[in-house]
Amino acid sequence: MSEPVFGPVPSRRLGRSLGVNNVIGKTCSYNCIYCQAGRTQELTIKRRKFYDPEWLVDKVLYRISELERNGEEIDYVTFVPNGEPSLDINIGREAQAIKEAGLRTAVISNGSLLWMEDVRSDLSVFDLVSVKVDAVTPRLWRMINRPHPDLEIKKIIEGIKQFSNEYRGVLITETMLLGNIDYSLEARRIAETLRTIDPAKAYILTPVRPPAESFVKPPSTHTLLMVYEEIRAVLGDRVIVLQKPEEGEFTALGDLEKEILSIISVHPLRIDQVREIIRKHGGTMDVIHKLVEKGLAEIVVYNGREYIVRRTR
Ligand code: SF4
Repeated sequence: MSEPVFGPVPSRRLGRSLGVNNVIGKTCSYNCIYCQAGRTQELTIKRRKFYDPEWLVDKVLYRISELERNGEEIDYVTFVPNGEPSLDINIGREAQAIKEAGLRTAVISNGSLLWMEDVRSDLSVFDLVSVKVDAVTPRLWRMINRPHPDLEIKKIIEGIKQFSNEYRGVLITETMLLGNIDYSLEARRIAETLRTIDPAKAYILTPVRPPAESFVKPPSTHTLLMVYEEIRAVLGDRVIVLQKPEEGEFTALGDLEKEILSIISVHPLRIDQVREIIRKHGGTMDVIHKLVEKGLAEIVVYNGREYIVRRTR
């Protein structure tokens, strides 16, 4: 089993972020066609315990002390599992304990469970919450996010709006744009929805890492600009397009094989990034060959670049 605490990794929105994978397996309320963690293995909306919360918090704090000894700083402890973090019934307690240790906390959620009062209460503990608004028309939302059958997009958006009204931290949104999808009517609907959610920043993303489904392609420049302009018309400079993968350093401490496996469980790495991690650690590329041989990782080419990704299928 991979370690639940990984990194720090450079994040396009959060600076240097120590990752917490608080969900076991690929367990999610969505099965997005572009998911970089592969297809969802367990599609559920039932919250439950995944780890002992004290054990998980101890892991985070131990890792922080290791990083401090190494002279490394982080900006956020980020709950960013290969699945939906709010499915973890103890997420609020865990975030509270990490905050009490003087650390800033963030969570990257799909927002699909925010219509539940207990989920709103748990996520309100975080300093920063990111939610997903990829589509608002039911047909398109089902096609892109492939949600659990009991979910409804209308109810989800109401839940996100209610959370936005109550929450005192920084709320940001993510909208993933894909190729071969007609956004001509959807762009305005997404923009209007974002206006009512009123995020501090609205990020437009495009797939930069290998997706769950090989047919997923990045959007055309025309589509990107059209959606950007619609959102900019309602949110002004708060809309930001992120098309480039992260730059900057990844960090691996301890057992290199385990570390790389933990990172790629939620964050596929370009081969040049893997080489840099191995170089800093004084290892060799044999560690990658071993992961591939064991069937735990695979090397894929996407947009002309080689990546190492966690094997889930
Ligand atoms: S992208 Fe996020 S919400 Fe979508 S399937 Fe992957 S983990 Fe779940």
